[in-house]
Amino acid sequence: MIGKTSYRRKLFIYFFIVFIVFTAAITAFQYNREKQYKAKELERVLESYTDIINSFIQYNNIYERNNFSELDSIIKILPYQDIRITAIDYNGEVLFDSFYADYWEMENHENRPEIQSALFDDEGANIRFSESTNQDFYYYAKLYDDYFVRAAMVYSMSAREFLQTESVFIYFIVLIFIITTGVLLYVSDKVGKSILKLKDFAIQAGRNEIIEKPVKFPENELGTIGKQIINIYNNLKKTNSELHNEKEKLIHHLQMVQEGIAIFSKDDEKILANNHFIQYLNLISDIPAITADHFLKVKEFKPVNDFIKTQTKKAETSYMKNPPVKKLSIEKNKRFFEIQCIIFQDKSYEVSINDVTKAEKRKILKQQMTSNIAHELRTPVSSIKGYLETILNNQNLPPDKQKSFIEKAAIQTERLSDLIHDISMLTKIEESANLFEIETVNINSVISDVIENLQSSIQDVKAKIECNIRKDTKVNGNKALIYSIFQNLLENSLKYAGEKPTIHINEYLSDDNYAYFSFSDNGVGIEEEHQSRIFERFYRVDKGRARNNGGTGLGLAIVKNAVQFHKGNVSVKTRKGGGAEFLFSLNKDPAA
Ligand code: ADP
Repeated sequence: MIGKTSYRRKLFIYFFIVFIVFTAAITAFQYNREKQYKAKELERVLESYTDIINSFIQYNNIYERNNFSELDSIIKILPYQDIRITAIDYNGEVLFDSFYADYWEMENHENRPEIQSALFDDEGANIRFSESTNQDFYYYAKLYDDYFVRAAMVYSMSAREFLQTESVFIYFIVLIFIITTGVLLYVSDKVGKSILKLKDFAIQAGRNEIIEKPVKFPENELGTIGKQIINIYNNLKKTNSELHNEKEKLIHHLQMVQEGIAIFSKDDEKILANNHFIQYLNLISDIPAITADHFLKVKEFKPVNDFIKTQTKKAETSYMKNPPVKKLSIEKNKRFFEIQCIIFQDKSYEVSINDVTKAEKRKILKQQMTSNIAHELRTPVSSIKGYLETILNNQNLPPDKQKSFIEKAAIQTERLSDLIHDISMLTKIEESANLFEIETVNINSVISDVIENLQSSIQDVKAKIECNIRKDTKVNGNKALIYSIFQNLLENSLKYAGEKPTIHINEYLSDDNYAYFSFSDNGVGIEEEHQSRIFERFYRVDKGRARNNGGTGLGLAIVKNAVQFHKGNVSVKTRKGGGAEFLFSLNKDPAA
């Protein structure tokens, strides 16, 4: 409100000053014109008097007779008595003056301005103050051949008089002033509203407030500008908040990712760093409790630091498409890290640290696995090759020998097939676990199937199986994997527990999430020194014996992986009274 009043008052004062100056100028101009007009009018009146006087002088031969006192008679009959008539000869001598009886005593009038003018132009006028009458006089003199006749009148043209006589003009000026003020206030009000609204908006925007209510501007140019400014402001605000949200998301994302990421300014000041970055920095550096800012001081990063120094010193170049990148691999305390540094256009830079230990270890494991597989395959393949070559190269081999070699080759083929089956099973669990179908699996019926399929082996060693599993024990899992758990464990017991073993399969505990099983036999068992490694691929206690038994060395690795697929654990111990006992759990719903 204050703003509005002061704005309008100011506008009014400015306008008032301009108007007053303008009015004063017009009045002064008008006053002068009027003055000139009045003077001219007076001059014409005075001229008519001088002409009458001259006519009188001529008619009565007053000049020739030098009897100017006769002029008194005509002056008395003139309509306007206040006019002073003076007759002056060519040399300036006063011949007659109607206001002074002793006119012959008057000083020479040659130097009077009106006389001087009349000398050259035949007529002349002058306004002068008369000390004898204390008034301004308008003198008009005209040259008539030998003498001048001068007529003078009291001249008053004061401003007050002018204003009194020009009252219509004054009323007109006042009216114009009132009308213009009204129009001005109306226009200023309209413009003022727009300005006021813009001012309110500017204050709100300055305080960074959100403009919720739509601001209504008057329909004029200023209003349109105001609307546009608010639109631009709102769009800017919207974009800013969107940008802020995106930034928040990005920061959130940076905190969530496994990668350690930090961004530094070109002056090596940290802009942001996630927790993993600091964690990895601590793992790599020998300096304890390090912060992101210490990145440049860690000696392990020297190649990256050197790269940053050379790149940031370089002259400005356009990096937009291919920013300079430096990659570095670090191995520290049996952990592997990959470092990447990107220099941005403004010479700020991003450093990311990736813990690739798992991937690296998997790579090493894979390499070992591949060489193990090659090694495991070589034995049966060379055996088969040997048997077949012997038969082929010895045409005269007796048929029973031939048959024996073919049978041995067949056993090796069987071994080869088992090996390939186990390898593909393990690879599938590890690399395409999501391909295993999940269904409700009844444990009892799976065990029954296993026993049924291994019946001939069971009978071979005269094994006794005691299964103590509740009929309704169900697990939401993969049937083939659960089958392979029990199959491998049973096969092992049949292979390694000796003659007439007793095998116990128990469900010893069950809760809401897990079912707990024990699988044991009363055979030779597994010595403690081997128990921690028994689940490794291709690990065998007695290599010769295991191979002879047809073992691939992958059975327990498959068991471990299948149990882990069901989010369970497996361990081995020596059973009370001898023999091996495997304890394992299966999550009832591993997919949940
Ligand atoms: P394999 O295919 O050779 O049987 P496994 O991974 O199944 O491979 O078993 C690894 C080793 O553990 C076997 O070589 C064997 O020595 C030992 N083992 C497994 N189960 C038993 C068991 N029930 N009793 C004694 N030793 C066992």
